[in-house]
Formats: sequence, structure tokens, C-alpha cells
Amino acid sequence: MSRSIRLAVIPGDGIGPEVVAQGLKVLDAALPSDVKVETREYDLGARRWHATGDTLPDAELESLKDHDAILLGAIGDPSVPSGVLERGLLLKLRFAFDHYVNLRPSKLLPRTATPLAGRPEIDFVVVREGTEGPYVGNGGSLRTGTPAEVATEVSLNTAYGVERVVRDAYERAQARPRRKLTLVHKNNVLVHAGHLWKNIFDRVGREYPEVTTDYLHVDAATIFFVTQPERFDVIVTDNLFGDILTDLAAAISGGIGLAASGNINPTGAFPSMFEPVHGSAPDIAGTGKADPTATVLSVALLLRHLGYEAEATRIETAVTEDVTGRDGSARTTDEIGDALASRVRAASVTP
Ligand code: ATP
Ligand code: MG
Repeated sequence: MSRSIRLAVIPGDGIGPEVVAQGLKVLDAALPSDVKVETREYDLGARRWHATGDTLPDAELESLKDHDAILLGAIGDPSVPSGVLERGLLLKLRFAFDHYVNLRPSKLLPRTATPLAGRPEIDFVVVREGTEGPYVGNGGSLRTGTPAEVATEVSLNTAYGVERVVRDAYERAQARPRRKLTLVHKNNVLVHAGHLWKNIFDRVGREYPEVTTDYLHVDAATIFFVTQPERFDVIVTDNLFGDILTDLAAAISGGIGLAASGNINPTGAFPSMFEPVHGSAPDIAGTGKADPTATVLSVALLLRHLGYEAEATRIETAVTEDVTGRDGSARTTDEIGDALASRVRAASVTP
């Protein structure tokens, strides 16, 4: 059987191209030789914006559709005004491709540093809604720049949008051994959106009697992330809460160098996009200090999404072994990528 993957690659800015190169190296090592990967690279991000003023032209958006998945390094640079690339590129892609599931797993691997005392077990996944909430850009400013300025930023929540992401979270919880799902919101204050979420969460839950559920206000959730992270299995939450919680999740479970994510359209109508949670890290770009592991783990999520479960697991196992074997001596981005690729390759050889 000959199979192929059409992969769009957006290396982006700062350390983006450095970590993406390692991700592709490991992808190549993981796939059987009969799987052909056709990659097409897109020059998008700060450099392109400075050169041409483009963020994501419609022609490129169209051609991105013609892929099975997208691998993104990182976008952003302090020289570009805040919001230009976030709204003009990243959010534009998420909305255009209807990436309503933003998947962010957190797992504390053996011997990995965590600021949490007592090294609790951490193995949970946050399902963050990706297309609604306060991120839709519905708002405005009146009397801008005057002392009487008024600004609004409307949080949009639709029954359709909430139900589909809640359903996805139940499916993921159902497939995990602990079968536990926590809804995080703030329905004591944000009563309109909060009750929409809670009612749908409860209603859909009746279809999943094997999944244990609970509800936490987002402020309480931040406390439990630090004091009892082992209580979480799958968490479903809105766009803004999920953004903040997953940075905290990365901080407690090995740091930003290990945090992977997927912007997923579970229907397959558009390609899903996989990227490390971290940004372009301009402070270390070009120094070889960037840890490519988050990107490599994002490649594992990408492969699982495309149905390459065994290959994804091999990558995750290689990362666990690599991280466990770290003795604190510094390795370059390239060296870590090479080490991961050779572990994956060794594991792929069928005896
Ligand atoms: P963004 O707004 O794009 O999310 P940010 O302001 O959150 O960016 P990052 O680019 O994620 O910032 O960097 C935050 C800190 O983490 C920086 O000090 C950076 O050097 C460090 N960092 C980020 N990614 C990595 C990595 N892969 N390896 C090592 N250090 C990293
Ligand atoms: Mg950030």
C-alpha cells in the first residue's frame, strides 16, 4: 500500500525554523519508507510582513487547504506591532479552517523539572475551544484616545460551537483509562455564557454515562493545577480560559520546551495545524539553545491525527527516553533533534 502525506510547513520567525527542521527530521525517521511526504514551505511571519506587508494572502490560504496537515514553528517578533500577526495570520487560519479543538496535552515525564513540590502525577489534556469566546474580534472602541474612551470585546458563545467542542472532549475522555472530564468556566459571574456551557456539558454528558464529570470555576482550577494536578484527566474550557490555563499547564509539567499543541478540525473538512505552545523566542534565536522537543511532540500529535498511531507513540516514547536520560549537560537544538530521530529510527526497525 502506498500512502502519502501532503504537509504544509510554516517555519515562521525566531526559533521557528530551527525547531521545525528537527520536527521534520523526526517525522522522516518515524514513517515507514512506503509513506511519501510531500512538503510545501510557506514563507509567512514577521520577515514577510516587513518585506511585503502581507500576513496571510488569500491565495496562500487557499493553497494551504490543499494539504493533509500543517506544521507551524512560531510566529511573531517584537518589531511587528502587537496583534498584526496574531489576528492577521494565526487567528485568521484558525477561523478559516474552523480549528475548533485546540488540543494541549500535559504530561510530567520522569526526572523532568517541575516547580511543584512532591512531584505529583500529571497527565491531562486540555481541550480548548478555538473559534469563539472573546477571541472572535467582535468589539470596538468609541472616543478612542480620549479620557472618555470605551472599549468592548464581546465573548461569543453559540450552542453549536459549544456543543461540538464539548462532544469532542467527551469522546477523548471516553477513550482514556480514567474517563474523567472537567468543565472549567466562571458561571457564577459570566452567567450567560457560563450557563450555556454548563447546560450543554450536562446534556451531552448523559450520552457518556461512563465518563465522570465535574465543574470548576477557572480561578479554582488555577489553584488545583498547582496543588492537585493529578485530579485532572480531560479538561474542556473556553478560548480565553484555555489559553491561560495551558501556559500554566506547560509551566508545571516540564516547561515550555516540552509543550505541544494541535489546532484541530475533527471533521477533516480543513487541514489541522500542529505547533509548539511556545513562541518565537527571539532572545535565543540563532544560538542553538532552543529545545525542539515541543515541536517533535507536535509532530506526534499530527501523525496521530492522520491515523499513524504507532508512529506517534514511537515518537512519544523516544521523547520520554531522551528526557529521562538527560544529565543536565547542554545540547544544541540539532543534537536533540538527531538524538530523537535516531531513537525513533531504532524503534521503527521491525525485528
Ligand atoms: P508568544 O507571544 O509568541 O507566545 P512569548 O512572549 O510567550 O511568545 P516565547 O517566545 O514563548 O514568549 O518565549 C518565552 C521564554 O521561553 C523566552 O525566554 C524563550 O527564550 C523561552 N523559550 C521559548 N521556547 C523555547 C524553547 N523551545 N527552548 C528553550 N527556550 C524557549
Ligand atoms: Mg506565549
